[in-house]
Amino acid sequence: MKKRTLLIFTGPPGSGKGSLSQLCVSKLGFKQVSTGNLCRQEIAKGTQTGEKIDFLIKSGKLVPDGLITQMVYDWFLEQLDDGALVILDGYPRTVRQAELFHKMILDGTFPFRVVVVQLALDDEAIVKRLSSRFVCQNKQCQAIYSANPDANMMPEKEGICDTCGGEVRRRKDDVPEVIRERLRIYHQHAHPLLDFYNRVGYRVFKLDADQPIKNMLHQFEQETDGLAL
Ligand SMILES: [Zn+2]
Repeated sequence: MKKRTLLIFTGPPGSGKGSLSQLCVSKLGFKQVSTGNLCRQEIAKGTQTGEKIDFLIKSGKLVPDGLITQMVYDWFLEQLDDGALVILDGYPRTVRQAELFHKMILDGTFPFRVVVVQLALDDEAIVKRLSSRFVCQNKQCQAIYSANPDANMMPEKEGICDTCGGEVRRRKDDVPEVIRERLRIYHQHAHPLLDFYNRVGYRVFKLDADQPIKNMLHQFEQETDGLAL
């Protein structure tokens, strides 16, 4: 049986993981499994598991690693016959999740080849990028703009979204101190995860995230070409 490729995108907040996976879905026909969406779907179905998740989230608790992994497993079971390439979004978030996930692959149910795509951008570039970021307040749109003249991403009319006409504003937590704290937490989890991926032999490759998203997609396609995705 031909091995399917599974992609794990890693990278700090603001490195463009979300935008790159959206492009992979719309332009390259990949599928994306988001644990956030799986949780929302389960809650909407009103199952016992859904009620449990709903309760945990509402009381500000984390959904247990085993439960998250079980939902991802069930999602793959439903998609067995589908040959599309899959991107994992927001998962694995911890080494424990990565271990459970790896066990699930190794038990042979899913013949996967895992490739980790590491979006690399240094902390100061992220602080600069996020603190000059403006986001469209329309929840359906959420277009991103930048006050940094180098980025050439200002809306045509100040404060108004080019796409939907919604209000464009800075996010409250996009200030340097808060961004640095988010980065600190990110690094705490990212390094042990990367160690784990290297240890179990996943292929890891770096993508320069300090370039426009279109160029990033281009580099991604070139680098992954030899992997016969
Ligand atoms: Zn908008």
